[in-house]
Amino acid sequence: MILVTGMSGYIGSHTAVALLKAGKDIVGFDNFYNSSFEAVKAVESLSGRSFPFYEADLRDIDSMERIFKEHNIDAVVHFAGLKAVGESVAKPLFYYENNICGTVNLLKLMEKYGVMRFVFSSSATVYGEPKSVPINEDFPLSTTNPYGSTKLYIEGILKDMCKANKEFSVALLRYFNPIGAHESGLIGENPNGIPNNLMPRICQTAKGIMKSLTVFGDDYPTPDGTGVRDYIHVCDLADGHIAALDKIEKDTGVHIYNLGTGKGYSVYDLIHTFARVNGVEVPYTVCPRRPGDVPEMYSDPSKAKAELGWEARLGLEDMCRSSWSFIKDK
Ligand code: NAD
Ligand code: UDP
Repeated sequence: MILVTGMSGYIGSHTAVALLKAGKDIVGFDNFYNSSFEAVKAVESLSGRSFPFYEADLRDIDSMERIFKEHNIDAVVHFAGLKAVGESVAKPLFYYENNICGTVNLLKLMEKYGVMRFVFSSSATVYGEPKSVPINEDFPLSTTNPYGSTKLYIEGILKDMCKANKEFSVALLRYFNPIGAHESGLIGENPNGIPNNLMPRICQTAKGIMKSLTVFGDDYPTPDGTGVRDYIHVCDLADGHIAALDKIEKDTGVHIYNLGTGKGYSVYDLIHTFARVNGVEVPYTVCPRRPGDVPEMYSDPSKAKAELGWEARLGLEDMCRSSWSFIKDK
């Protein structure tokens, strides 16, 4: 049985569908801070399977212990966490307590119940401001905000646990920029409040909720002057977790992988592809650079291909189309 934390969230729900479709048994939990029970029902309907689900909180060890008592868990896929960079700068303790203390609680329970396999949602943010692209897993690590620091600290905690216990196996998955949604349109990304990331903001602009998209800088040293990122379809990302679980079943220790496509697309690439494939308008205004943004980030995904046999299949058009079909009628 695989425990999926943060299961009703954006990436958790897509991964739950992929796991269930691959025939794995799962138990999920979430505290619904940034998601709702609707996603749990959608996962059941998309996979055609039911599974146990709990409302539980990483910060409340008793609420999680019930799950460990009631199920024979042999691996954990850990998505639960807070992820808004700006909020983490304003409320660092909230982030450190939720993400780091919460993960330590989860790891304590794993130790108590003898669960030895762990897949962690890390992020390309741990590369800080990379000196060059593409970025491979051996690049130096640093962070520029508390959210990123929580990812880097947790990576360190997991490395220490593997040193202390030779039976423990961990996959640190460093996601690049997940966008897109399941083709059914039943699950996707629907952030609360004003979103920070580019794709949700493009969607809000296309819907008319935002009058005009703010392009943060067109004077970067990139082909069209706008920022370049490695956007990856969330369904490809979900499949990466299945490959990582297979890997850590076979090999103990720490295994680190970039999950990206290896291709960089600019802000203008996203705006224009989105407008073209969906037949909508995305008005935009060029503004000054957003503080802290780096000009260009994209992955070298070759290690995941070589060691996991995983690579991204879906392209930018699929990402733009599916993001819009999920959100357009919400
Ligand atoms: P999300 O907010 O949609 O999902 C996270 C889920 O965790 C939410 O459903 C939230 O309610 C839940 N949660 C938060 N704190 C909790 C707690 N204390 N107890 C129980 N549940 C809690 O985010 P997502 O995009 O699906 O991200 C999943 C993971 O991947 C996160 O750890 C995030 O940091 C990481 N990640 C995301 C991105 C991205 O761009 N989406 C990029 C890199 C890494
Ligand atoms: N971006 C933008 N306008 C927005 C949001 C983002 O121009 O309203 C740019 C941002 O400067 C970056 C890219 O889009 O170059 C991706 O930003 P996002 O916040 O989605 O991801 P991250 O910066 O965390 O990689």
